[in-house]
Amino acid sequence: MSNIEKVLIIGSGPAGWTAAIYAARANLNPICCIGTPRQDPAPVLPGGQLMLTTEVENYPGFPEGISGPEMMMMFQKQAERFDTRIIAQDVSSCDFSKRPFTVTTGDGSTIQAHSVIIATGATANWVGLENELRLAQIGGGVSACAVCDGALPMFRDQPLAVVGGGDTAMEEASYLAKFASRVYIIHRRDELRASKMMQDRVLKADNAEVLWNKVPIDVIGEEKTEGVRLKDTATGEESTLPVKGLFIAIGHTPATKFLAGSGIELNEKGYVNLPSRGSSTNIEGVFAAGDVADAEYRQAITAAGMGCQAALDAERWLAAQGIE
Ligand code: NAP
Repeated sequence: MSNIEKVLIIGSGPAGWTAAIYAARANLNPICCIGTPRQDPAPVLPGGQLMLTTEVENYPGFPEGISGPEMMMMFQKQAERFDTRIIAQDVSSCDFSKRPFTVTTGDGSTIQAHSVIIATGATANWVGLENELRLAQIGGGVSACAVCDGALPMFRDQPLAVVGGGDTAMEEASYLAKFASRVYIIHRRDELRASKMMQDRVLKADNAEVLWNKVPIDVIGEEKTEGVRLKDTATGEESTLPVKGLFIAIGHTPATKFLAGSGIELNEKGYVNLPSRGSSTNIEGVFAAGDVADAEYRQAITAAGMGCQAALDAERWLAAQGIE
């Protein structure tokens, strides 16, 4: 029985590392599949979305802020300090039909585990503009998270734009409207997808405006965003919108492909379904934490909190099975 892991954690963002820290300190000797770097189409890195974030200013405990990659390195170090073992592989499939569970990694190896914590996150969808990712990666004013990056000094009292017409776009626009000189919402249709309440919140702000029937076709700027090229979806006419920041809010894609056929229930948007309070999935002994199971908050701090819950839930569940 000794080659059966007590806790296998899949993912290495704030949720995965926090689960590892808690599981390790509970003497569960966790093993963590941290993934491998790949393009999908934006870079996907071990460490998750924070690896693509320049400055994190809203994680408590870092009064001066910290870069996303540095923060994830510290999370990892803390997990390793308590002897979390690391496998630098993606998980390609999971068999949760019988216990112990079997997880297959990208190199074809299998790992058996009594409990599994899924913490693979979700990636922001990007439009696919030529300069979009380059400017996002150098902190040049393109971002997929206004709540994370919008309050940076570079955006204060500046004209900014948000792409998207859903609730996230509305939420981001109303957040930005508090300190931007003007916020433009670039939406590809003549009707918003967002709920009426969220729409009203934005539309009542004096400095927010929807640009109907528009799609961005490029971001202008070498080191910093200087403007966005727009195309009218009705007339085909092109124009330039001078803005200092572009926030992409066109949805997220949870990293759940590897769960196909595993029996794990996903919700209608593809996120892991947590049927009850806490981190338990529909399969006993399998837990989920962070953005892979949360379409709503998607913050480092909420993901870390969910990672903690998942480790505590796994610990209690293992104890109830007599596995200590
Ligand atoms: P969403 O509802 O899927 O909306 C995505 C928006 O982006 C849509 O308006 C869509 O346009 C647009 N879009 C998609 N691909 C695009 C592209 N390639 N180019 C231009 N525009 C594109 O995603 P979301 O707003 O992130 O919301 C996700 C879920 O979280 C929703 O269920 C939402 O209600 C929930 N949420 C709730 C709250 C809240 O209540 N506080 C806050 C945030 C999110 P079309 O409309 O034309 O399809």
